[in-house]
Amino acid sequence: MFLLFGETVKVKVINEGAFDCPICKSQQTYINIQEKNYFTLMFIPTFPTSVHAEYWLCRNCKNTFDPNYLEQPAYFSALQMIYAYLINQYGYSLCSTKAKQLYLEITSFEWQQEAMKSALVNIGNWDTLVKRLKQHKVTIDYSGRCKIIAGVIQLIFSMEKDFYESRVQINMLGSYLEVDSVFIDQVIRNYQ
Ligand SMILES: [Zn+2]
Repeated sequence: MFLLFGETVKVKVINEGAFDCPICKSQQTYINIQEKNYFTLMFIPTFPTSVHAEYWLCRNCKNTFDPNYLEQPAYFSALQMIYAYLINQYGYSLCSTKAKQLYLEITSFEWQQEAMKSALVNIGNWDTLVKRLKQHKVTIDYSGRCKIIAGVIQLIFSMEKDFYESRVQINMLGSYLEVDSVFIDQVIRNYQ
């Protein structure tokens, strides 16, 4: 007999309550969700190995929030971090207006000048970005992470028509955010 080991994610509702959702602009119910990695034996989850993610999900708009920062959905800040990095990469005059426009399209909120300035001040290098994203992604559900990657591809594509070089960057960000490569390929195909 041989044994099959693996890992799976189990989602658990910890509790729920009421909060003022900045997107719904009204009081809504949130569900506190915890995703845990489980060690599996013969496909059966046996014991938890680590916490994969923990966030509040608004029952109404389905956005996820960092319980310590309820002013905006968690994916907003991650998108700002990566956009700031790309603005720095392509140059402020070339890239900032487009980044602002896309940010508005994706989130339906304006990326205020002050917030952009502070994101630009705090960019750091690629390693800093990755480290901050890894810390941040535990408060973002899968659909939020897909929105980030799609937004990143859109901005890069508007900057360079042949983004062969940037493909590596996109794939790396996708893998840090644990977004399926099939999804990434599909989004890219839309622009080619
Ligand atoms: Zn909401």
